[in-house]
Amino acid sequence: MLKIKDFIKNIPYLPFLYGIFPVLFLFTHNISELKYEMLWLPLFTIIFIILVITLILSIFIKDYHKSGLILSLFFLLFLSYGNFKELLSGGWLADMGIIKDKYLYPLGILFFGLASYFIMKSGDLKAVYGFFKTAGCVLIVYSLASIGFSAYSNRQKDTVFLNNVSQMETGQNQNLPDIYYIIPDTYARADVLKELYDYDNSGFIDFLKGKGFSVLSDSKSNYQNTMISIPTTLNMDYLDNLLPETIKEDDFKNMVQNSRVQQFLKERGYKIIYFDSGYGITSYNKYADIKFNPSYINDFSRQIIETSLLKYFVVKRNLFGFSIKNEERKRILYSVEKLKEIPEMEVGGPKFVFLHINSPHTPFLFDRNGGEVDVDWDSVTSSEEYNNLWLDQLIFISGQLSSAVEEILAKSKTEPIIVIQSDHGLEVMMHGLPDEFFQSDAFTRARIKNFSAFYLPGNKKKILPNNLTNVNTFRFIFKNYFNADLNLLEDKIYRYFDYSLLKHRSDLKNMKQVPKSLF
Ligand SMILES: [Zn+2]
Repeated sequence: MLKIKDFIKNIPYLPFLYGIFPVLFLFTHNISELKYEMLWLPLFTIIFIILVITLILSIFIKDYHKSGLILSLFFLLFLSYGNFKELLSGGWLADMGIIKDKYLYPLGILFFGLASYFIMKSGDLKAVYGFFKTAGCVLIVYSLASIGFSAYSNRQKDTVFLNNVSQMETGQNQNLPDIYYIIPDTYARADVLKELYDYDNSGFIDFLKGKGFSVLSDSKSNYQNTMISIPTTLNMDYLDNLLPETIKEDDFKNMVQNSRVQQFLKERGYKIIYFDSGYGITSYNKYADIKFNPSYINDFSRQIIETSLLKYFVVKRNLFGFSIKNEERKRILYSVEKLKEIPEMEVGGPKFVFLHINSPHTPFLFDRNGGEVDVDWDSVTSSEEYNNLWLDQLIFISGQLSSAVEEILAKSKTEPIIVIQSDHGLEVMMHGLPDEFFQSDAFTRARIKNFSAFYLPGNKKKILPNNLTNVNTFRFIFKNYFNADLNLLEDKIYRYFDYSLLKHRSDLKNMKQVPKSLF
């Protein structure tokens, strides 16, 4: 009995503090895009792993101060690798070109080995252990307090965008069409593909037209970043009219997950079917009626893996058949297959289906025939190779979309509305490019030309403007199919903008409008 008591007393608790802290740290730094439920699985997994390793190690190292310090160091380095790398990448070491995985891995192992050696050789480390225990507790308490504070301040935020909607007039409720809104991220317009990539996309476009789609040859996105383009489309207005006085990253997420479009349709009996894109603002949506997440990986687990040395095992290679790239491939293929089942799903009302496919955007996952690609976008150094990888992925996604469209149309009892619309066009190799590049006319002209294709029942397609911009997508649909008192807004196009600079609504004045002469 006494032995067990001694054993429990001698378990080093320190590693738990330094294993949990990196997870909480990552969570607090991305809190605006995450859900609290996402914390449990990684947290319990890590606690379990620490428990097992700690118990095993305590058999071999009797001094729990020493084993505790060694394990804490191990977990801190292992789980926070990405943070350390980022921290170092600003300094002189980066100038020497040392901040690369191939140098940092052996350096890290050497550092850990030496530190462990000195810990083992030292005398009594009770005081050192005590210091790190206090520091660890402070870090944990601080993280928990940040999470708690954020949870509290977000409580009232959910309703920020609940306005304007209820005043809209309700149209006929019978036989409402299912609405599919599909966003293939960075899918470029046909003329850009022809001009910059010498690629003729008429195969896909003719297929869509043959099915009855209108493919706009002059469509444009109002904003050139995912993070602000999707929210404005889903709220049918420009940022000036949407954002609160003080802007938090949360606002963009809330604008997507509790959008005016979604509220408008919910009020008319629609059920919201939402695909977890695995990325930022279009990941998990608590307001949806039916949520699909085809992967074990949610936005947060992916970030933990990419920040930690787990990355080494599962991003580039497989660990027991598991890899991030496989999960992302699975996500896209699953989403497309699931789309085909939706027309026959009984959900107790018409459906609004939202699918943001993070492709042809990076990561590079597929070649043009759907074969696996394992090239990391940030390791590509030639612009030509990068463009080819992106184009291949675009071609594959086009085929996937064609097969989904084919089945949705064949299986839908009431003719649906289907919109395939990218949040902006064109992806280029961005790393290493100066800010001026993104502000240049050449980049802007190509980036704003997004892909927009509409399947519209009845004869409304005749009045669909060929130069529609994203902000008017749902204005057009709601006005024409729901009799909503909504007119199309004046088309305004803005240049690429680092949205993280938006702290107050007045910062929007720094976002430059593209002159009409440019488009
Ligand atoms: Zn995007």
